[in-house]
Amino acid sequence: MTTTTATTPVPFLDLAPQHAAIGADMARAVTKVLHSQQFVLGGEGRALEAELAAHCGARHAIGCASGSDALLLSLRALDVGLGDCVVTTPQSFFATVGAPARLGARVDFVDVEPGTLNLDPASLEAFFARCTRDRSGALREPRQGTRVRAVIAVDLYGRPARYDALEPLCRKHGVALIDDAAQAFGASAGGRKVGTFGDVTCLSFYPTKNLGGAGDGGMLTTDDDALAERLRSLRVHGSGKQRYVHEEVGWNSRLDEVQAAVLRVKLPHLDAWNAARREHARAYDDGLRGVAGVRPLDAPGAGVESIYHLYVVRAVRRDALRDHLTQAGIGVGVYYPLPLHLQACFSYLGYRRGDLPAAEAASDEVLALPMYPELPVASRERVVAEVRRFYGA
Ligand SMILES: *Cc1c(COP(=O)(O)O)cnc(C)c1O
Repeated sequence: MTTTTATTPVPFLDLAPQHAAIGADMARAVTKVLHSQQFVLGGEGRALEAELAAHCGARHAIGCASGSDALLLSLRALDVGLGDCVVTTPQSFFATVGAPARLGARVDFVDVEPGTLNLDPASLEAFFARCTRDRSGALREPRQGTRVRAVIAVDLYGRPARYDALEPLCRKHGVALIDDAAQAFGASAGGRKVGTFGDVTCLSFYPTKNLGGAGDGGMLTTDDDALAERLRSLRVHGSGKQRYVHEEVGWNSRLDEVQAAVLRVKLPHLDAWNAARREHARAYDDGLRGVAGVRPLDAPGAGVESIYHLYVVRAVRRDALRDHLTQAGIGVGVYYPLPLHLQACFSYLGYRRGDLPAAEAASDEVLALPMYPELPVASRERVVAEVRRFYGA
């Protein structure tokens, strides 16, 4: 039995309790793979694909090597390439925008909703209104006239983006919709689970994600049979039904059997882990309500369930609060300190500070507090007490 005192460090994330609970099950599953001598594209991967598809209610799930690769594969399967335009959010992990850039597409950014930091449908609608249509009816982006092919929405911190608005908007304009759900598998909105929104969903099993492997891994889900078949081909170098006969150039991007076996042990626990995170989030919300200077993001509305990959507040004097908590032994993080449209590698896109004010303000104010299912209640209470102390509340 450990007790939390006023000076016990509170890590930002602690994976050890999970390992203590199910480490033996994982070791057994990995040993089974070693004995099978089947390491790539075998029974564990196929079983995980089926189980994960069933968990979220998608028709198809296709394993791949990482969440970043899932984004690359999805864009390629939707024919996004050189001279195309992809629209996305400036508040995300770099992979969201690295994927279209690596495929030679132009990236355009639209602003975020201040209360959720997810892509703002009104901002996307305003972007579409500034686009032109060519003679074939295809949408052309306003700056360079590249063809608008896809939108990548991100379910930031574990909360689904506004698909009720984004899906009809993209459909109306003939633009594909990709869900970067690397932070949100298990979340839901309007009675639908993440994994079923848009044309295709990209998942990551990076070890710190809510469903994390013992290394890198990723998956795609879709209801579209033709898209699923193309994704299965693209992850093995674009090979067709016949081995060594290639219909297009793809990648080597598979989820290996060891990862699949580990993830199959973890998947049945995911809903309970996410419920524990929601409980912590509610308690943080309650504990910080009314403290002048700090504001939790909006609580999810009716019918929306976040999985709280991160618990994020907006804070006045954020850097000073971060230093205060760090000195008190409390782990915190800033996601993300520089919005994507202002990254040096994208200076060629021509964005300037002031172009996307909601995203820019967020980068100066966001702070993520310790969040993981097994976070001790006493630790959580110490975090709340230290935040309140900082603001004199
Ligand atoms: C983690 C993450 C990715 C990339 O996943 P990897 O498996 O690390 O390649 C992509 N998008 C978002 C929003 C992420 O959080």
